[in-house]
Amino acid sequence: MSLWDNKGVPHKGWHCVGMIDLGEDAEDMDFETRKAELYEQCQMCKQEGIRYVHIMEHPSYSGQLRVGCICAENMENDYVAPRGRENDLINRHNRKMNFLKREWQPRTNGNLVLKYKGSYITIMRSKFGQSEYGVAFAGKYIWNYQGKKIRDIRTAKLAAFDIFDQ
Ligand SMILES: [Zn+2]
Repeated sequence: MSLWDNKGVPHKGWHCVGMIDLGEDAEDMDFETRKAELYEQCQMCKQEGIRYVHIMEHPSYSGQLRVGCICAENMENDYVAPRGRENDLINRHNRKMNFLKREWQPRTNGNLVLKYKGSYITIMRSKFGQSEYGVAFAGKYIWNYQGKKIRDIRTAKLAAFDIFDQ
């Protein structure tokens, strides 16, 4: 049942505490085949299939609701900001996909190096696990992406992007 029909759930006065792009790392051509994993159901109306999740909180509702843009607009009573937040995610996704297309230079030691915005980023294999990769930048090393070990070059590039684009 839609929570819009539930008198115990406030209809107005919500605010957004975070945004998620469920297709953040997917190529655009993946969306048709991977719809089931790249979309979820809006928890407010139980209808919208959403890729961009607005995480909503309300002072008199315990817990959060993950909703789509149309419900977020109604819950916040704001018909500009939710769309703007989605556009920010769309732009970030586009920057990310463009970053993946950059040419990295292979080094004789097997590392990959990219000069980006005047700095060098290096992708290397872990000395301890040959199936693991790390990203080095400005004297720092990153061995995880979204809480998991980096096990392929594409994931290493996604981790490299996050260094520049939080
Ligand atoms: Zn909805």
